[in-house]
Amino acid sequence: MNVLVVGGAGYIGSHCVKQLQAAGHHALVLDNLVYGHRAAVSNDTPFFQEDLGNRAAVSQLLVDQKIDIVMHFAAYAYVGESVTEPLKYYENNTGNTIQLLLAMQDAGVDKFVFSSTCATYGEPNTLPIVENLPQSPINPYGQTKLQVEAILKDLAHVGKISSAVFRYFNAAGASEDGCIGEHHSPETHLIPLAIDAATGRRAALKIFGTDYPTPDGTCLRDYVHVDDLSRAHIAVFDQLGKANTFVDYNLGTGRPTSVKEILTAVEKVTGFKVPAEDAPRREGDPPSLYADNTKARTELGWEPKYMDIESTIATAWKWHESNPEGYADQ
Ligand code: UDP
Repeated sequence: MNVLVVGGAGYIGSHCVKQLQAAGHHALVLDNLVYGHRAAVSNDTPFFQEDLGNRAAVSQLLVDQKIDIVMHFAAYAYVGESVTEPLKYYENNTGNTIQLLLAMQDAGVDKFVFSSTCATYGEPNTLPIVENLPQSPINPYGQTKLQVEAILKDLAHVGKISSAVFRYFNAAGASEDGCIGEHHSPETHLIPLAIDAATGRRAALKIFGTDYPTPDGTCLRDYVHVDDLSRAHIAVFDQLGKANTFVDYNLGTGRPTSVKEILTAVEKVTGFKVPAEDAPRREGDPPSLYADNTKARTELGWEPKYMDIESTIATAWKWHESNPEGYADQ
């Protein structure tokens, strides 16, 4: 398949490109490099620097490159910023995705894979999170992802575009060969921050809340390896051949891990102490989020390879050890 990976220079997109190539597909990348890194994409991968909101250019590219499937990873993803700058999120995450879908319609491309989030569930009343729980996001970021999901349902209903939606839990880790990894600027995610604290590149890690109703008082999350996420995106291709398809899958290991357990695992993997201090809760953090991944397992035959947190962190550590500053371009 010829697959256009929109946002393919970002963290999850770049890992997906590598997995697509390993599975024998022809992957092409479209990225405006606002947050993405050119170095995250190998030189032998066709690369187009373009805004996804540029409908005419994207449509031409889809035709010229004979694209079969579009995978869409390009979104702003800072929850806090989405609260303070909502229009930035609605404009890019929702508005530009509509432009991308219009470009697909113009070009006659009718298969779409969308990167969504467990943030669409807001603060669920029951755990683990199954696909059919009510979706009521508590911030604009989650809202934009849910809006796109609604649009995709409508497009599937009338047979215009078939799509698969993946709701990620906490993407973590890095490519096994250590060539690409996680580099956000600014970085807000727990594992890279804990590794940086362990190596002395950052000050003590702040543990956001130690009085949650969880076994050790810190938040529980479901850390799923970025290569496992990527493999699910490829396993769904068969389903996209059918018209009127809209399928959704929660992607997580199903295993909750607390913030304190992450710090212990980082210490074990790196051999360094993680300096940490208790801090107030971060606004908008639900106490516990973890997936019921039964649907992905049974329908896609998806089997996460990284089921223990130390093996996931070991891949992140391999990348950070050889790239302490991340990619050189930012
Ligand atoms: N966290 C923390 N200190 C940090 C960053 C994150 O205690 O410096 C906690 C955060 O409150 C959450 C968990 O780590 O409970 C995972 O946060 P992250 O930002 O990595 O992902 P999120 O679950 O927010 O998508």
